[in-house]
Amino acid sequence: MRINRVCPVFVEFIPEHLESGKLYISNEYGVIVHLCCCGCGEKVVTPLSPVDWSYINSSKGVSLSPSIGNWDYVCQSHYFINDNRVIWVGGMSKLQIEKVKKRDYEDKLAYIAERNSANTAPWIIMFAVSIFNKVKNFFIKNDIT
Ligand SMILES: [Zn+2]
Repeated sequence: MRINRVCPVFVEFIPEHLESGKLYISNEYGVIVHLCCCGCGEKVVTPLSPVDWSYINSSKGVSLSPSIGNWDYVCQSHYFINDNRVIWVGGMSKLQIEKVKKRDYEDKLAYIAERNSANTAPWIIMFAVSIFNKVKNFFIKNDIT
């Protein structure tokens, strides 16, 4: 049976036995897990990261972004979770699903590339510092200064 509301539960570890209608949120492990809101019983795992999902916890409830598209499950259900409410979205065509999957993949690649280039600068600084220390130690050891 489809549900139209979820109840957020903040946990460290995701329990083995999940209850329908509960949104298990683990900030420690950066993941949200729930049973598919269509009632099919499939476990839906949404990792929390800049390229996966993020959530907002307000006084009205928890909102998850982006939407949840269970393309790989038989039910193929698609919904938003907004202020603890489940907002159902009509089914998507195969082509639309492929487009979304492709876009997600490209977003991920772009994010990884961006992170890698951001990490270059500190690496060069570390390298320069280690060279400087080696040269300094050489002079100290040989008492040239
Ligand atoms: Zn389902």
